Amino acid sequence: MAQQEDVFKKIVSHCKEYGFVFPSSDIYDGLGAVYDYGQNGVELKNNIKQYWWQSMVLLHENIVGIDAAIFMHPTTWKASGHVDAFNDPLIDNRDSKKRYRADVLIEEQMAKYEDKIQKEIEKAQKRFGDNFDEATFRATSERVLENQQKYDNLHHRYQEVMNAEGGIDLEGLKQIILDEEIVCPISGTRNWTDVRQFNLMFKTEMGSTADGASTIYLRPETAQGIFVNYLNVQKTGRMKLPFGIAQIGKAFRNEIVARQFIFRMREFEQMEMQFFIQPGTELDWFAKWKEIRMKWHQNLGFGAENYRFHDHDKLAHYANAATDIEFHMPFGFKEVEGIHSRTNFDLSQHAKYSGKKIEYFDPERNESYTPYVIETSIGVDRMFLSIMCHSYEEQQLPDGQIRTVLHLPAALAPVKLAVFPLTKKDGMPEKAQEIINELRFHFNCKYEEKDQIGKRYRRMDAIGCPYCVTVDQQTLEDNTVTLRDRDTMEQRRVAISELRSIIEDKVSITSLLKKLL
Ligand code: ATP
Repeated sequence: MAQQEDVFKKIVSHCKEYGFVFPSSDIYDGLGAVYDYGQNGVELKNNIKQYWWQSMVLLHENIVGIDAAIFMHPTTWKASGHVDAFNDPLIDNRDSKKRYRADVLIEEQMAKYEDKIQKEIEKAQKRFGDNFDEATFRATSERVLENQQKYDNLHHRYQEVMNAEGGIDLEGLKQIILDEEIVCPISGTRNWTDVRQFNLMFKTEMGSTADGASTIYLRPETAQGIFVNYLNVQKTGRMKLPFGIAQIGKAFRNEIVARQFIFRMREFEQMEMQFFIQPGTELDWFAKWKEIRMKWHQNLGFGAENYRFHDHDKLAHYANAATDIEFHMPFGFKEVEGIHSRTNFDLSQHAKYSGKKIEYFDPERNESYTPYVIETSIGVDRMFLSIMCHSYEEQQLPDGQIRTVLHLPAALAPVKLAVFPLTKKDGMPEKAQEIINELRFHFNCKYEEKDQIGKRYRRMDAIGCPYCVTVDQQTLEDNTVTLRDRDTMEQRRVAISELRSIIEDKVSITSLLKKLL
């Protein structure tokens, strides 16, 4: 575990050192859980967004995009339930003065029981080899049974307090923390305060106070911008059910426990798609979108074993089914995307609060109804982090040296091709520039002439650039260059005229999209 934490620290400093992610307002020592994307980070982030946007809007004829404002009419958040229910249950440790989410502490405790079971299974698997039968082992191993019992009891109690009548049972939550003897990871004590509710929305004021300013919120999710535009888009786009509306944009949450770098931020970006469907078809569509979204993730080639679904026990007030797609980060399997069957809750609420009729006239059924919704909601920043974590490698080379390389999927890499003149004379820089001038219209290229070639390769490896080209004496004679591959480090001689066709297909988002169909 300590080793994994070390890796994570290295990734965080790599992100800063190579212009991917900086703390916000760095010269003032940063701002808690707010980050800026640097020259390479913004390119990677834009590519992630393009991959998502195009997979939604280009590949689905019945999905269109919008870009709604961050500020919304304050009643939006009354209707959506965020003013009354977008709360986290908080608990403080009196000794360390650290604040935690009570629900997270308990979920971590459940994960510990699950881990113990998993470890027993792995041990037994090694011991019994091919003869191992997991089901029998689970049903008979004393240690597994004991931990399973603890897990089940806790799970049952947790569900009861989270779904208590009239909202979360705060005293019940605290009692679980005491009974499970959960300690503060910093102080190691069980000196806990009571659990309190804390609303996560940021407030600000619109208009000057003299005019009678009104309180408005920074949106905590982009989804509501889609719901309030449902009628506009459906009518002007003459959309027929089922259809979807996609959106990418900033969201803001005053997160209490804001740790783990860009995993949990106070200002972050979401890519959300709301899919409007006939009531009664939601569980089929839910299953379908689970499959489509998992395929989108696995298409990046990080290995299916690094993903899993985590079905929700505690359903949000609007949902009748929900799951998370979790990715194996250095600090465990963590949510990257949520898929929710939101029923007709949001549209009905907005109809109620606005007094407008928000329905769909179904020509086939010859009736009007409020559509149901399946939502897919993914955080750009968490996606970014998962890609960074999976791509980062400190590779031991045969000569004993270590090279730090980012094995980014080529289609997402910030720079696709680096062009180096071997030396700064004999017309090599001019030739290198010529190559760039030709290729820059097709993909992102970078020119580098400082330091010896080996060092330049390393710098490009560190930002995940998939291809490097070197212009040398021979280039001036026969218009060929050496093309070096980031992952294999192999070099081959190719004609300049072939560069585009060799590289373009591999580095384009289209190459990823084609694999989705
Ligand atoms: P969590 O349980 O981790 O707080 P959530 O279930 O509240 O997340 P959703 O409301 O379902 O998250 O938001 C959808 C997606 O938005 C998440 O899967 C995640 O990728 C992203 N997201 C949510 N909160 C944050 C945050 N504070 N920082 C970065 N990304 C976030």
